[in-house]
Amino acid sequence: MFISHKPFLIIISSPSGAGKSTLCKMVVQNDPLTKLSVSATTRSQRPQEVDGQDYSFINEEKFVEMVDKSEFVEHAVVFGNHYGTPKKMVEDAQKNGTEVLFDIDWQGARQVKEKFDQDSVISIFILPPSLKELERRLKNRAQDPQDVVDQRMAKAKDEISHYHEYDYVVVNDDLNATYSKIRSIIESKRVSRLSKSQISDLVKEFN
Ligand code: ADP
Ligand code: 5GP
Repeated sequence: MFISHKPFLIIISSPSGAGKSTLCKMVVQNDPLTKLSVSATTRSQRPQEVDGQDYSFINEEKFVEMVDKSEFVEHAVVFGNHYGTPKKMVEDAQKNGTEVLFDIDWQGARQVKEKFDQDSVISIFILPPSLKELERRLKNRAQDPQDVVDQRMAKAKDEISHYHEYDYVVVNDDLNATYSKIRSIIESKRVSRLSKSQISDLVKEFN
């Protein structure tokens, strides 16, 4: 008997550069039951980013139009640019029974938690091992100019100050160890959401 679980939503936040995109990609690449939510943003595309895969890169006019048409689950201004999670993506994933992973900031996390049943969302905050290491990662990523790196470092403390709003806080020191912790969190949530009716049918067989 295959016992299924009710899918849920997974929010991952961190200061920029702590490693959440890397970790989210590792999760979806190794787990066919998870899908990454592709946000829309007005920020410029980075050299290695793919439109429609990393983000949907749209202009401000289009973003405002989508807000007016209530096409976002949540949206926020981060580092002076608009970011939003399209509703359609979440609805489609839920119809297919997959878990949706959101790489969003604390403002978006709050909105998602308000909109969905508390039991159907888990939130994970990723901390860098130190501010020095965070800066090293932002520079090593070599995708943003120095002024953007400086702006992101300046906002790191603000983002980190929201860590206590999350269900789990994980320090991303060793990448593979952090990935394993995130996998364990997801697996344990799945176990807690196993279909109660299927379990009681199975238990009846033993009576
Ligand atoms: P974010 O999505 O949080 O902005 P990224 O996933 O883009 O961060 O990671 C920023 C940089 O840090 C990338 O170059 C990535 O390869 C690197 N990185 C991520 N996790 C680790 C880690 N545990 N140790 C060393 N480098 C890491
Ligand atoms: P980046 O520009 O480095 O890709 O992302 C900057 C910040 O915006 C990160 O904290 C990221 O989690 C956040 N972000 C990305 N997409 C969304 C979104 O759809 N909504 C919200 N609220 N934040 C987002």
